[in-house]
Amino acid sequence: MSKRYTITTALPYTNGPIHIGHLAGVYVPADIYARYLRLTGNDVVLIGGSDEHGVPITIKAKNEGVTPQDIVDKYHAIIKKSFEDFGISFDNYSRTSAPIHHKTASEFFKTLNEKGEFIEEITEQLYDAEANQFLADRFVTGTCPKCGNEEAYGDQCEKCGTSLNATDLINPKSTLTGNTPTLKETKHWFLPLNKHEDFLKKWILEGHKKDWKPNVYGQVKSWIDDGLRPRAVTRDLDWGIPVPAEGGEGKVLYVWFDAPIGYISSTIEWAEREGKDWEPYWKDENTKLIHFIGKDNIVFHCIIFPSMLKAEGSYILPENVPANEFLNLEGNKLSTSKNWAVWLPEYLEEFPDQQDVLRYVLTANAPETKDNDFTWKDFQARNNNELVAIFGNFINRVVVLTNKYYDGVVPEPSDFTDVDLETLAAVKAYPNVIASSIERYRFREAGQELMNLARLGNKYLADAEPWKVIKEDEARTKTIMYVALQIASALATLSEPFLPFTSTKLKGILNVSSSAVENSWNDVSEKEVLLPANHQIGKAELLFSKIEDKTIQEQLNKLEASKKANEAANKAIEPQKDTITFEDFTKLDIRVGTILEAEKMPKTKKLLVLKVDTGIDTRTIVSGIAESFSPEEVVGKKVTVLVNLAPRKLRGVESQGMILMTETPEGKLVFVNPDESDDVKAGSQIS
Ligand SMILES: [Zn+2]
Repeated sequence: MSKRYTITTALPYTNGPIHIGHLAGVYVPADIYARYLRLTGNDVVLIGGSDEHGVPITIKAKNEGVTPQDIVDKYHAIIKKSFEDFGISFDNYSRTSAPIHHKTASEFFKTLNEKGEFIEEITEQLYDAEANQFLADRFVTGTCPKCGNEEAYGDQCEKCGTSLNATDLINPKSTLTGNTPTLKETKHWFLPLNKHEDFLKKWILEGHKKDWKPNVYGQVKSWIDDGLRPRAVTRDLDWGIPVPAEGGEGKVLYVWFDAPIGYISSTIEWAEREGKDWEPYWKDENTKLIHFIGKDNIVFHCIIFPSMLKAEGSYILPENVPANEFLNLEGNKLSTSKNWAVWLPEYLEEFPDQQDVLRYVLTANAPETKDNDFTWKDFQARNNNELVAIFGNFINRVVVLTNKYYDGVVPEPSDFTDVDLETLAAVKAYPNVIASSIERYRFREAGQELMNLARLGNKYLADAEPWKVIKEDEARTKTIMYVALQIASALATLSEPFLPFTSTKLKGILNVSSSAVENSWNDVSEKEVLLPANHQIGKAELLFSKIEDKTIQEQLNKLEASKKANEAANKAIEPQKDTITFEDFTKLDIRVGTILEAEKMPKTKKLLVLKVDTGIDTRTIVSGIAESFSPEEVVGKKVTVLVNLAPRKLRGVESQGMILMTETPEGKLVFVNPDESDDVKAGSQIS
């Protein structure tokens, strides 16, 4: 029976592009779910949008010398395009800077305020007098009172994970000016979560003990067991939705208050465009509301947003919140700042038209019950051994043989053998098997069942060997090919939620896009014939292609480079050496020199033997720069030379001085150069 579903996906934060972790945790499972429900005839709206408020965006804008709007415009466009590129079938993708969202969130706040659902409180907050600004969240750093991390933020310590108030920090510093902030009074609105504790206990702890994922249920329980406290819903900021209440001047709604309302405003935007009524999607008790999120958002979607919806009074609550754990990359946590990620725009450049491969691998490795690891070797193996060798191989053989034997016309079967009948019966079972996994949010399992259907086809064809049978029994060959074509047709339909691009391509090859032969999900179980005899199919096209070791090695090299860069960036700066007097310094005779000749010191890796014009003389200097420069590169270069260093022998060659060098974070040597001006002559003293 058809039902109405409102499916929301976590709003990505618009301060960067999105990576495989986002796709695996939220958007691919939500898309599989939504596509499956549409194929089974349900009324579905899949909602998304960009989260464009909050402090990190304003800080990024400040650092880059642009406006917050510039930042969100840039990343909203990039993120939206990635979702389109990867076939995430949003019915609407909106943004929280849209006027419809400002209006919806503002009205939501006003309703709660009028109903007396907030507490207003004057508290003392950290204030930066020079910047004329209150310092919440990321505008202040200091020492974490729990673990002593000296770089904790005003909302959270990233080292120990404790959620903090800015006033909890020891030795707080403003990130705007570096000043020590003062305390100043300010008024804020709080949502008294403690007031909703009983309702939350009954609704989740009693009502959803069985059907919510244990990781979600467990986290919610521990929050509630800890006791809930009032939570501020406003902030002293100028980027966001102005607080629509007396005394709200200069304040905005806290990003975590306005963002989930974005699901509602995105639905309204969609309904207005489609000429529909949005309210049943959020207010009819028969609608199933499902939030797809990552585990870092559980508290907001299971405690705070439901409390807001409950307080408002006219909304339904989520039926389920199938939050995923985190995806790691090659054994390490995905990190934007450390560039430890596979970014979607980059992936598409390097693997053009291979969106389905990534979707497939991320589903196979989805972090559904625990953190999971994405590795490039596994990506390659799943592509080559499953998509190419099983799915692609089966389809290719069926289509090529049908064209070769029957000019692409589906043959008439004659008597079916027991194996034929068992195979056709097994195919009919798949829609329910896959559906049952999807409906329990077990997308890994569902994806593997789809591959099992392809395995079934591959094995049927390999066992039946039509390429041998055709030599002696034409009628039997026709039956074999007919059965194989039914399996191919089932794959075209059932692969759509997982591999939408492949499904479209396969439907094109089988010529089943027209309504006469198009099959719904349930048709695969219920129809006697999926692809009728005498139906004309098209020519073979490769659905997947093998990924070579070289391609995988390039990806691993890229990650290795990121790792090196991170290590270099984290290398401790050497502490300052002991103080010296000016007289000590004047003992150093440092001059500008010109390298006249250079050659590699035989049997060494690092050493170059240089002839250097020091202005005083031409002398030999041995320098350990051969790993960073070839001899040809350095001839003619102006360099800085310590000329009165006591000579010493290196590999039998006397070095009469030292060339001054420094090093990049990656370990490449760089000359400490005098200005490249011709006016500086060899022999000029440095003082
Ligand atoms: Zn800490």
